[in-house]
Amino acid sequence: MKKVIVIGAGPAGIAAAYKLSKEGAEVKVFEASPYIGGMSRSFDLWNQRVDLGPHRFFSKEPKVNDFFDEIIKDDYTIVNRITRIYYNNRFFDYPLKLFNVLSNLNPFVIVSILYHYCRQRLFPIKNPKSFEEWVTNRFGYKLYSIFFKNYTEKLWGIPGSKIDADWAAQRIKGLSLTEAVINSVKGNKGNKHKTLVDVFKYPKNGTGALYDKAANSIIENGGVILKEYPVEELIIEDNVCKGIKTVDGEVHYADNVVSSMPITSLIKGIYNVPNDVIEANSKLYFRNTILVYLEINRDDLFKDNWIYIHSPQVKHGRITNFRNWCPSLNGTSKSTILCMEFWAFDNDDIWSATDEYLANKAIAELKELNLIDKNEECKKHKILRVPKCYPVYETGYKKHLKTIEQFLNSIEHLMPIGRYGAFKYNNQDHSILMGVLAAENILHDKGVDLWEINTDTEYQEDGEVKDVLIQ
Ligand SMILES: Cc1cc2nc3c(=O)[nH]c(=O)nc-3n(C[C@H](O)[C@H](O)[C@H](O)COP(=O)(O)OP(=O)(O)OC[C@H]3O[C@@H](n4cnc5c(N)ncnc54)[C@H](O)[C@@H]3O)c2cc1C
Repeated sequence: MKKVIVIGAGPAGIAAAYKLSKEGAEVKVFEASPYIGGMSRSFDLWNQRVDLGPHRFFSKEPKVNDFFDEIIKDDYTIVNRITRIYYNNRFFDYPLKLFNVLSNLNPFVIVSILYHYCRQRLFPIKNPKSFEEWVTNRFGYKLYSIFFKNYTEKLWGIPGSKIDADWAAQRIKGLSLTEAVINSVKGNKGNKHKTLVDVFKYPKNGTGALYDKAANSIIENGGVILKEYPVEELIIEDNVCKGIKTVDGEVHYADNVVSSMPITSLIKGIYNVPNDVIEANSKLYFRNTILVYLEINRDDLFKDNWIYIHSPQVKHGRITNFRNWCPSLNGTSKSTILCMEFWAFDNDDIWSATDEYLANKAIAELKELNLIDKNEECKKHKILRVPKCYPVYETGYKKHLKTIEQFLNSIEHLMPIGRYGAFKYNNQDHSILMGVLAAENILHDKGVDLWEINTDTEYQEDGEVKDVLIQ
């Protein structure tokens, strides 16, 4: 029986521990927080249930869907996705619909879009290096500036010209303007593109129910989950990972360690790291999210599950409306819980702003966009600060990540997985897949290269076009 330590009880760690414990391994999960589910957890709020922002689950990968079906069984509902973009005081359907776009933009802007598009196709930028160059090449600068620039820069906190083109290429490959136009007229028959998927399965008790239930199974299978047990160091002897040391100094040994803690902290928890790896590690960084939950005393605010806010005059970038997911989340309550996302770096003023300031700012911004009435009262607020949500793909990040990857590959019996664990812009499905494949590598010596997951999206999602453009 193999002894395995799993660091982190988010989707990646829980999926790995579930598979390992099911097949007889002796599993111990160390989780820093008091919660199961990581960024994909759900919690009770004002007699309703909410997630950390919108959490849509979708995959075409059988291993991921098997995980979902086996655990959730029929305790899910189908959500009809409604999402729009808010820009220039107007709503644009998302996925974009041709006639809706044409009716929302003035004719001069439309002519300008076509002009920029044609010019770019005739004189493309050779070897586009940044997100801005890549998207401009494909759609023209005008369209980039309307539907990509504002949101992307709010989210990442750096100019589009500094975001690696690799990110755009990974996430939106396959989408051309012609294809987008055809899709907007014909609809997304056969769910060819993930971003255009308009229905999805959703656990009745919130997205986190998947991980809560999986955690129960892990324990039933004899596994152990230790909450509020942050891991600080790895025990490595002769290039073999033998276990971990917790922040409290406890040492635990195992045959294998699967880590979904931030890759930058993992490197800091290893002795005698070569200088070039320390240097590369210092170049990787993350973007944080502030979630502002507000309770509004109405149940008919707007129809969307979430709205992407492109308007540059406000600071938040996305609003989730938990009234529009499934009735089981709302219970008997008649009010609406909104969740507004603000993105920040550690040293931004807003990251250290008080809860009161953030709530007032969020309410003022909702009023500025006319999404609630000017005299609407909002009595309750809750603020959550989620650090290290987004691995920042700044130009050149891949070189640094490769240096770290090669170093970590030289340590046997250690597997870094997950969103910040492997520095990949994962959704739940990517992290679950990494967890399941890590377990299969340990149990059956599969030898799958986990670093490749989510770098070639076609591998699992059939050439998806993601809403990354805007997510
Ligand atoms: C606002 C928002 C919206 C999102 N929307 C979607 C969506 O619509 N669809 C979708 O599929 N995905 C969505 N995601 C992404 C999804 O939440 C993540 O992909 C997923 O949670 C990643 O799982 P993970 O296990 O890799 O990492 P995490 O969920 O971050 O879990 C990592 C775990 O490791 C723990 N940990 C960290 N350090 C240590 C340590 N030193 N010792 C022990 N434990 C440690 C953490 O506490 C955490 O529980 C969204 C994310 C956010 C923030």
